[in-house]
Amino acid sequence: MLKNHAKFNSINGRRLVLIVDDEQINREMLGYIVSSDFDALYARDGEEALRLMRENVNFLSLVLLDLLMPGVDGFAVMREMKADEALSHLPIIVLTSEHTAEVECLRLGASDFILKPFSQPEVIIARMQRIIELHEDRYIIQSTEREDMTGLFNREFFFRYAEQYDRFHPDQEMDAVALDVNRFHLINEMFGRAAGDNVLIHLATYLKELRERTGCMVSRVEGDRFFVYVPHGGMDYTELAQQVNRHLGSLRDISVRVRCGVYRNADKGVEIERRFDRALQAANTIKDNYAQLVAYYDASIHERKIYEDRLISEMYEALANGQFEVYFQPKYNVEGELPALSSAEALVRWHHPTLGMVSPGVFIPLFEKNGMIQKLDYYIWARVADQLGDWRRRYGREVRVSVNVSRIDLYNQNLIEYLDGILTENGIDPGQIYLEITESAYTENPEQIGEMVERLRDRGFKIEMDDFGTGYSSLNMLADVPVDVLKMDMRFVRNLHSNEKQETLVKLVMDIAKYLSLTVVAEGVEDKGQADFLKSVGCSVIQGYYFSRPLPGTDFIRLVTGATQ
Ligand code: C2E
Ligand code: CA
Ligand code: CA
Repeated sequence: MLKNHAKFNSINGRRLVLIVDDEQINREMLGYIVSSDFDALYARDGEEALRLMRENVNFLSLVLLDLLMPGVDGFAVMREMKADEALSHLPIIVLTSEHTAEVECLRLGASDFILKPFSQPEVIIARMQRIIELHEDRYIIQSTEREDMTGLFNREFFFRYAEQYDRFHPDQEMDAVALDVNRFHLINEMFGRAAGDNVLIHLATYLKELRERTGCMVSRVEGDRFFVYVPHGGMDYTELAQQVNRHLGSLRDISVRVRCGVYRNADKGVEIERRFDRALQAANTIKDNYAQLVAYYDASIHERKIYEDRLISEMYEALANGQFEVYFQPKYNVEGELPALSSAEALVRWHHPTLGMVSPGVFIPLFEKNGMIQKLDYYIWARVADQLGDWRRRYGREVRVSVNVSRIDLYNQNLIEYLDGILTENGIDPGQIYLEITESAYTENPEQIGEMVERLRDRGFKIEMDDFGTGYSSLNMLADVPVDVLKMDMRFVRNLHSNEKQETLVKLVMDIAKYLSLTVVAEGVEDKGQADFLKSVGCSVIQGYYFSRPLPGTDFIRLVTGATQ
């Protein structure tokens, strides 16, 4: 495998040179002379020379160029090369019978001259080698192939390098491997950027050793993401991941872990960038799964990607065609003797004409990733406002409903104005609307989010911190953030039966809430045992299948009004 830049332009260790001369005898002679040390391509005129250069620019080490040729001559070729960024780095040795044009040739970028008629083959070879060496060293120094912090290849160079390797080794099966540090942003947040950088440098050091040991290619492509290109069958990836993790150790009590995605025997018919995208997609399937260190790309991931792309491309059309519907999942207040329906959470549903019902668990994260979620959220809130207005007019009920607010919505400066607009239009008081904001939005950017949330509260909205317990907020931070309700994440509830530790954790959340004078909502409550326990530890509101699944608006309002059909 290629280990350093010196072999970059070589095929089996031999450089490829282009011999340009209109006279066949000269081409043959030079070809014969260089054949002991070089592979050669031949061009009969300037035009053919430029074409061959462009086709082989990544392989060519040197051009031997005749000056006087019919049509496009040597001067014109040099001028063209100089103006073409891709060709300008190729060294040129001019073949000439007199010295008169030297200055002009140097000005145009020639590195050296070989005098015709050709004599002293060993001198010619030596000059060629010297020019190539000089040039390649300079090229290494000039190129920005390495990334500053870790000294590994940067993304661009890595891809070029991998492509190069593929061309020289078309039959070698290769694996594309992506490594990504789990929750890297948290490391930066909790321990500072310097600690984060340290982790990356540490990881890079390990990968450099790996490169030395195995001859693989390694790159830091961006942030906390590293790519490795490895001959297929040469590496045990589970062992690799374990070793990397052992090497990284932990920061205080938090262990630093990488996840590893592998696209085995990568299809070389697919662009190199896409091959590594696939490795990344595989890695992302185990993003929140700490038990599994390695994931392999397979057809199901590919199909999933196609499915996801389809959902993304069809969102606007679906909005326009009314395929999104709001469901309402009742929340029950359990403080009294009997549970009382107190409010609901609005949850979006996508009725896709051919795919059927698509779960928000699938499309919401997709839309969040590419910013489309704002459009959907705005639509859902408007539908909710409209619905609430309708219920108030028809049944005289002021139902309270919470809507989900994505973190990206909170950066939108017209958020309050928009909410005001849809509420006013339907004669609804902001106090009727709870905004569910996921805990991790707060931890990501406490100041900016806090400021916006403060403004929303000033305007009369109530704020629920959603998925509480998964976002790693500290008690310190919680004391400062403006919220009204903690919505305990489902995971706390899920294992209540089986696990005494879980009960202790839930009690802890209740204590925190009491300390901060916050109401607690538990969600995902599926049975009586869970509900009873939660009530016994002071949880005020319960949402979950135990009481009701999310319902279409008509079913929900029927429940509220107690009307039977
Ligand atoms: P979430 O906000 O944590 O919503 C609660 C999810 O738990 C809902 O899933 C709900 O149907 C489900 N659930 C309720 N009770 C139970 C239970 O007893 N057991 C179990 N296993 N699950 C229960 P859903 O509707 O599939 O929504 C998934 C996520 O999608 C939501 O999680 C929320 O993050 C997001 N989402 C849904 N609608 C919207 C929306 O309009 N806007 C935004 N931004 N996100 C939404
Ligand atoms: Ca929610
Ligand atoms: Ca939640």
